[in-house]
Amino acid sequence: MAGLSAARVLADYFEHVTVLERDILPEDACHRSGTPQSKHVHALLGGGQRALGDPAFEEDLVTAGAVPLRVGLDVRIEMPGYDPFPQRDLGWISYSMSRPLIELAVRQRVAQYANIAVRSRCRVQEFEAAPGGTAVTAVKFENGAGKSQSLRADLIVDASGRGNLTLALLEAIGRTQAQESVIEVDIGYPTATFAIPADMSVDWKGVRTLALAPQRSRGGLMLPLEGNCWILTLGGRHADRPPGDGDGFLAYAQQLRTPTIYNAIKRAERVSEVARFGFPASVWRHFEQIEPFPRGLLPIGDAICRFNPVYGQGMSVAAQEAVLLHQLLRKKAEEADPLAGLAPAFFAGASAVIETPWAVAAVPDFAFPETKGERPPDFERTREFGVALTRLAAHDPDVHKLTAEVQALMKPRSVLRDPDLVERVRTMATAA
Ligand SMILES: Cc1cc2nc3c(=O)[nH]c(=O)nc-3n(C[C@H](O)[C@H](O)[C@H](O)COP(=O)(O)OP(=O)(O)OC[C@H]3O[C@@H](n4cnc5c(N)ncnc54)[C@H](O)[C@@H]3O)c2cc1C
Repeated sequence: MAGLSAARVLADYFEHVTVLERDILPEDACHRSGTPQSKHVHALLGGGQRALGDPAFEEDLVTAGAVPLRVGLDVRIEMPGYDPFPQRDLGWISYSMSRPLIELAVRQRVAQYANIAVRSRCRVQEFEAAPGGTAVTAVKFENGAGKSQSLRADLIVDASGRGNLTLALLEAIGRTQAQESVIEVDIGYPTATFAIPADMSVDWKGVRTLALAPQRSRGGLMLPLEGNCWILTLGGRHADRPPGDGDGFLAYAQQLRTPTIYNAIKRAERVSEVARFGFPASVWRHFEQIEPFPRGLLPIGDAICRFNPVYGQGMSVAAQEAVLLHQLLRKKAEEADPLAGLAPAFFAGASAVIETPWAVAAVPDFAFPETKGERPPDFERTREFGVALTRLAAHDPDVHKLTAEVQALMKPRSVLRDPDLVERVRTMATAA
């Protein structure tokens, strides 16, 4: 997702853009081994949707079978104290679909650019640096015939997800490694897909059941998919290990905090295997601290920051980072040497993009005492503020909308520090 988003913006400023992908890319929306996460729920937040495209892109998604959801209304949110949270139309539509479908839609857009070549079965082995390690000049990769090749480039974007190629390059040229912020969430994820029963009659299209933190970590998110299906991802932290078989999956769903999800699936036909994913930790690599960062290299997406998937942020952040790159290239195109200083400017902007989703996730993650990592210094105060803000949002549609916009990465969390709002939240906290 980060690589495709970056390719699109680079095409406006570079003569040729080459995307090297180790997998064989499917013609239709199906899973592939390079993205094992694709078997799990992939919610596209409003901020990512805006960053990825225009209304025509949304039409493409719907034509391909994505299910439109009125945000605030169509997904029933169940959280302790609010079962459900008030359902209101917050004024924008999001689209629910499988990860392969959204990736295919983005790939088809990229295919329309004459100066972008997507080459599958090309596994990147390493980045090559100029003598002294001041710049990265080429990519060494193994092509589909098993032969090693080198491709020179002015700018190399590491969108490999893991980011190991950038780490290996930094080590090879003797740079210190980037410091990491780490939140050890230790989540287990099982997912299965169900045919929506023909006689199903409910007032929602999806359900999110949140856990009773800190006592129990079990939660679930069920969303509609193309093909009249539900995809259901359950999750448990630390000792609450989810099962990988069909019966175990149902039993696990039955022990969610509310019966809504279990009641919906108990007689539905399961049309997929139960896929599992273990996610040990959210990791944010602070490349902005490496000076000088080699010219001509930019990591992007998960290569910079891998987010706890529970909050559905990764694709949206990747797309927002690509928009940031576009803005920077537009500004720098007027300079004599547009690549000079690109990496520090990009890392500074990416840190600002990452700050909100990282902070939004940190508070509920650290609500579980087993979570390891550096707690935000103002953790208790922020948590108490969040509780009172949620209460206010339940009463006030405007505050509900604002908090949803922050969660959906459409606004930075600084909007929640507005003095009038802070005062109202304080009043709500003392009234409790
Ligand atoms: C279980 C799970 C659930 C998630 N749910 C959501 C969600 O609901 N919403 C959301 O927004 N995000 C979600 N995410 C995160 C999301 O998948 C990523 O953040 C997003 O895909 C952006 O990642 P990326 O482009 O950096 O990496 P990826 O999408 O993982 O892509 C990396 C690509 O690089 C290729 N590659 C890797 N190494 C090489 C190499 N050496 N040579 C050539 N090609 C290579 C891979 O084949 C792959 O195509 C979830 C993640 C997980 C693990």
